[in-house]
This record gives sequence, C-alpha cells and structure tokens, in this order.
Amino acid sequence: MGLRNIRKEGDEILKKKSKDVDVIDEKIKELIKDMIDTMHKYDGVGLAAVQVGILKKIIVIDLYDEKPIIKLINPTILKTKGKQEVEEGCLSFPNKYVKVIRPEEVTVEALDENGKKIKITGTGLLAQAICHEMDHLNGIVLTDVMIPGTMEFVDPQNNK
Ligand SMILES: [Zn+2]
Repeated sequence: MGLRNIRKEGDEILKKKSKDVDVIDEKIKELIKDMIDTMHKYDGVGLAAVQVGILKKIIVIDLYDEKPIIKLINPTILKTKGKQEVEEGCLSFPNKYVKVIRPEEVTVEALDENGKKIKITGTGLLAQAICHEMDHLNGIVLTDVMIPGTMEFVDPQNNK
C-alpha cells in the first residue's frame, strides 16, 4: 500500500495544468495504485495526480458502487448534456463543501492503464466526479467554480 501526501488548498501546484502521459510505464502504474490507496484512505470519490504533486493527466474515481475503479489517462471530454446543482467537496479542501453547477451527463475519452482507448459516459455523481477531476487537470479548483457564497465548513467527526 502506497500512500501519497495530498496537496492542500494554497499549494501553488493545484493551479498548474497537467501534461499528457507519454508512456504508461511501471512508474505510472505504481502512481495509479498509490492514487487509489490514497483516495480510499481519505474516503474520496476521486483523485487527480496533481493532488499528489504530479502534473500528469491521470484521474482515478471510485463511487463505491461495486463497479470497477475508473482510471483515466489523458482524458478529454467529448460531450456534456444537461445541468445539475450539486454539493461538492475535495480532498485538497478538507472539511469544506460548496455548491456547483455540473453537467448531468458527460462522455469522456481516455486511455486505461494498459494504454487501451476507452470511452465512458457518466450521469449524476459520476458526471460530477469526472468534471471535478478534469478541472484539476486544468488547474481549476473548487473555489474557482463554486456558486458564490455557498461554502460551508464541516467539523471533522473523526480524524483518520
Ligand atoms: Zn478535488
């Protein structure tokens, strides 16, 4: 199990744009595993590589719905549909929640960890998670997209 340090609000790296992964080598696969471990450790729904300090276009998402964990390398959004107003948090903004407008449905194209091209269409929470993590790859964070005045602070119930 490999845990990585999560970069938090105020860390300049979160404002930077991630670059394409050129070669999916063992180092990248190791990073993906560590990202999944780190996401699970903090009960996150998704994590982008930049959040562990690496400016590469890699996203992991787990909705804890018994479906396989989604791993996206070099993802691009092909299309979006509809709108939903949702509450959103971020592992880089612990204990903060905001409201944002996200598409209701999103289709994304990417490579999986074997370099195979995949296409995923997500609705609801999955669409929200994909868009949130895509923002990270573009250096955009929660406070950039929140509906103004909707930030709430929630005291942690337990420190893990
Ligand atoms: Zn986030």
